[in-house]
Amino acid sequence: MSTNKKPKPEKSCLVCGRPFTWRKKWKKDWEQVKYCSKKCQSLRPKPQDNPA
Ligand SMILES: [Zn+2]
Repeated sequence: MSTNKKPKPEKSCLVCGRPFTWRKKWKKDWEQVKYCSKKCQSLRPKPQDNPA
């Protein structure tokens, strides 16, 4: 029961720089996932700074 043929892919968050691992919820969007969490996604650098 120890078959690690395909380790889960990893990426580095563009905001905090921490590595994060593939998750089920990103199954369809993994190619486009660039942030480890929604928090970082909201903190991502924007072309225009427009505070709420
Ligand atoms: Zn992050």
